[in-house]
Amino acid sequence: MAIIEVANLSKSYGELNVLKQMTFQVEKKDVVAVIGPSGSGKSTMLRSLIHLEQINSGTIHIVDEVLVKDGIYAKPSEIKRITSKMGMVFQHFNLYPHLTVRENLELAPRIVKGEPMTGFRKRSLELLEKVGLSEKALDYPAKLSGGQKQRVAIARALMMNPEILLFDEPTSALDPELTGEVMQVMKNLAEEHMTMIVVTHEMGFAREVANRVMFMDKGEIVESGHPQQLFTNPKFDRTKAFLNVGL
Ligand code: ADP
Ligand code: MG
Repeated sequence: MAIIEVANLSKSYGELNVLKQMTFQVEKKDVVAVIGPSGSGKSTMLRSLIHLEQINSGTIHIVDEVLVKDGIYAKPSEIKRITSKMGMVFQHFNLYPHLTVRENLELAPRIVKGEPMTGFRKRSLELLEKVGLSEKALDYPAKLSGGQKQRVAIARALMMNPEILLFDEPTSALDPELTGEVMQVMKNLAEEHMTMIVVTHEMGFAREVANRVMFMDKGEIVESGHPQQLFTNPKFDRTKAFLNVGL
């Protein structure tokens, strides 16, 4: 079974149908770039996977477990356990301003029952090293650049040893000169075979790092394929129009 299986996922806000019968799979070690116009439902789709949004109907399996089946959710304790297999990185970092970098990393494992109290310090320092920020462990987020904040957010998402990482436009809030350092960290994770879904406007990243690109429009997956195929030879007019490939 795929590591993520979504079938007929639909989600509305009141009268507005934001996701329409979405069906897709993500295999272990996939790096899926999700592209599409603003308002097409990309964030809602990611947020639904990790249960930051409740869907109206459909089925989501995460790592062989049922998060929601035909619109019926697992028990709250199960939902928590299943969604903890994923980490998420947001456009605006969402770091806690009153905690140091190291404390930002250590907060979630501390409040999750069952995690031993020892070991966080070692892991947080290892992960900060991995994202090139060892020397910032004791600083507060306000002292960091946007690129550094996002690298902290990625390290924080890794603290719980997720099997899947979800990224929602991780470089959209950054000055262009700072996107590279964040992309590099993500590229390294891809090379270590982390399963990733990345909503992004960075077509370079989609081309070079993703093994699959999924184009969404108006709450639907219009087209999904290998970057080479999708970027050079899109099948549908909506994809061509978005990518500005001659119609
Ligand atoms: P994208 O990430 O592709 O830009 P979103 O998933 O953020 O798209 O939004 C899809 C649609 O859902 C948009 O029309 C947006 O206005 C609407 N939407 C998103 N969140 C909410 C919400 N909490 N309440 C009402 N409408 C929402
Ligand atoms: Mg969005």
